[in-house]
Amino acid sequence: MRVVKYDDIVKAIKDMIIYSATHLSPDMKKALEEAYKNEKSEVSKAVLKQLLDNAKIAETEWKPLCQDTGLAIYFVKVGEDVKVEGGTLKDAIYEGTEQGYKEGYLRASTCDCFTRANLKDKVGYNLPPVIYFDIVPGDKIEIEYAAKGGGSENVSRATVLAPAQGKKGILEFVKKVVSDAGPNPCPPLVVGVGIGGSFDYAAVMSKHALFRDIGSKNPDPEMAEFEEEIKNELNKLGIGAMGMGGTETVLAVHIETFQPGRMCHIASLPVAVNIQCHSSRHSHITI
Ligand code: SF4
Repeated sequence: MRVVKYDDIVKAIKDMIIYSATHLSPDMKKALEEAYKNEKSEVSKAVLKQLLDNAKIAETEWKPLCQDTGLAIYFVKVGEDVKVEGGTLKDAIYEGTEQGYKEGYLRASTCDCFTRANLKDKVGYNLPPVIYFDIVPGDKIEIEYAAKGGGSENVSRATVLAPAQGKKGILEFVKKVVSDAGPNPCPPLVVGVGIGGSFDYAAVMSKHALFRDIGSKNPDPEMAEFEEEIKNELNKLGIGAMGMGGTETVLAVHIETFQPGRMCHIASLPVAVNIQCHSSRHSHITI
């Protein structure tokens, strides 16, 4: 059994949060540069240039890429042969999140759903994150992290289609979600699509799909092709960077299907769309 120290996990989480709040990931930077090259509208092109300049300033000065520093989301794979010493893994992630936001001077963007008050006095943490755990073989802990902005989360949607609606129905649903969202999620976007499983799990997969690097291929060739088809259709909507009108609304569409076998119930076709903005802060570490 491999032993990992609680404090080492706290520090790794803290460092990852501060770095990814201030350094746009290489895949996002490359995708924005591509969009800048390809954009046909002069106004949207100017906006894309500002987004790239903003990323450069953030990186140089270690300042947040956006004032909305997001809700911390984690997907964690825990090896069966690893043990955390000095506390629980969950507490270490909570504490690392707290320290990262505090020491990085990042806005604490969480509150009580009803009173809208800060949570520190109520639960002891400003930023209780959302964490999905999975148990896997091995002696490592793999942590995927994203800071999810409110603007893009607010326009995300889930539904259950009739089986006969198939791929055409999925395409129409994704188009409607992105079209209804308009400029609100701060395009250009990454669009995560979760297909199959159950109503709730489709939403989880659509979130996880956003963690995939832009430019990576879906391992299922049919889904890789479907991603391209949806992306091309979405870019015909003409929303453009920050809604200014243009050809580069969507940088990537990432589909995740329920495994094994792209499964769902015979009577259902669950679909969820989780939208990520141009300030896609995502990172991952293996401990
Ligand atoms: S949607 Fe993204 S870019 Fe827009 S305000 Fe929120 S975090 Fe910032």
